[in-house]
Amino acid sequence: MLHELDIINPATEDTVATVPTTSPAEVDAAVLRAAAAQETWAALPPGDRARVLRRFAEVVDAHIGPLAQLELLEAGHPLGNATWEAGNVRDLLHYAAGGVERLTGSQIPVAGGIDVTFQEPLGVVAVIAPWNFPMPIAAWGTAPALAAGNAVLLKPAETTPLTALRLAQYALEAGLPEGLFQVLPGEGPVTGAALVDHPGVAKVVFTGSTATGRQIAARCAAQTKRLTLELGGKSPNIVFADADIEAAAAAAPGSFLDNTGQDCCARSRILVQRTVYDRFMELLEPAVKAFTAGDPADPATDMGPLISAAQRERVRSYVPEGAPVAFRGEAPEGKGFWYPATVLEGRPDDRSAVEEIFGPVAVVLPFDDEADAVRIANATEYGLSGSLWTRDVGRALRVSRAVAAGNLSVNSHASVRYSTPFGGFGQSGLGRELGPGALAAFTETKNVFISTEESK
Ligand code: ADP
Repeated sequence: MLHELDIINPATEDTVATVPTTSPAEVDAAVLRAAAAQETWAALPPGDRARVLRRFAEVVDAHIGPLAQLELLEAGHPLGNATWEAGNVRDLLHYAAGGVERLTGSQIPVAGGIDVTFQEPLGVVAVIAPWNFPMPIAAWGTAPALAAGNAVLLKPAETTPLTALRLAQYALEAGLPEGLFQVLPGEGPVTGAALVDHPGVAKVVFTGSTATGRQIAARCAAQTKRLTLELGGKSPNIVFADADIEAAAAAAPGSFLDNTGQDCCARSRILVQRTVYDRFMELLEPAVKAFTAGDPADPATDMGPLISAAQRERVRSYVPEGAPVAFRGEAPEGKGFWYPATVLEGRPDDRSAVEEIFGPVAVVLPFDDEADAVRIANATEYGLSGSLWTRDVGRALRVSRAVAAGNLSVNSHASVRYSTPFGGFGQSGLGRELGPGALAAFTETKNVFISTEESK
């Protein structure tokens, strides 16, 4: 077990901080503190809980700049992206705060009395976050869980704990009770596993790789523990011949290069109808080359480095000598975990067309007709996101319904919003986060019957 995590700036390879890890004994103590804080928190009037969460949102809003700088330092995200991410935390907190007083149950007609339901908080929730969007994904679980009356123990990824630790400070500044929201940095198999196995943790919210997610699911099953999984993806971007091809080509680079492709929703399989294939590729090449990789602090930068040397090796393994590269962008040389935007022309069963790469690499695949497009799109174990470009409204709806994925967009790549449900089919996950049901996912429904019979 490591006692400290070295936090490396992926753009420079400089060590920017060292962070102590959390031992299993410290996890035990944290669960006890969280359980005590949760009781007080859940007993507060809903309006008071909402007010504290709004204050938390306001403190985050007052520190967007410093949070973005930290994200830039530890994750190499371009400043514009990092600023958006910090703003997303504020928005998630406001959205969740708005739900506290709307977490209603129902009243159900029954004989002999009245029947009502309550949405009871679960207790202590563990949020295990990945390194690709450290702030937003931490807040996806944390904000609604707190709003629904739970305590949250957040374990950030090994490489990116700094923004999470800062958010915990802001929570205290905003007046959240001590112990209610704690950040426990550490290694997944040690600190993360201690949280997953702890009987005092009622629910685990995990975002990360499918392999780790499966292990966590098995551990949760042993305790019938509630669980949400947001796992990998291999999402299609389907371009039909009747689409606005210029718009589709202009939007495609962002859909697999944003966040250097380290995005579970990355549209890393570009399916193009054969009759417009050459035209699309002609338009795609300059658009990809114009997506600038470089210093994350430069406002002109579109794409930063990969998170680590290990991640770069993983990405490289998908583009071996002789790989069918159509064209590439440029990336800085020297220090930093840089990797250029890469477009491959492949076949649907190539490893690069089947496995999640989690880097700035897309594979373009031709298709013949709508049925062929749907077949290729669904030829994956994943089912997280997808986009389709067409001017035919009937086709847009037919294909949206036919693609087995949780989040589809038509003539757009936008599919993640705090106000709409998000989650995967198949090996992409279990359960949904965000959207109108976000708070309810952190509650148990309790049914109470009250007799109105006259007592004798
Ligand atoms: P990666 O994308 O680096 O492969 P993982 O899916 O392994 O990421 O990790 C995502 C998050 O899960 C991180 O916070 C990591 O520390 C944590 N984690 C990894 N292994 C375990 C485990 N066995 N139990 C609990 N958490 C884990």
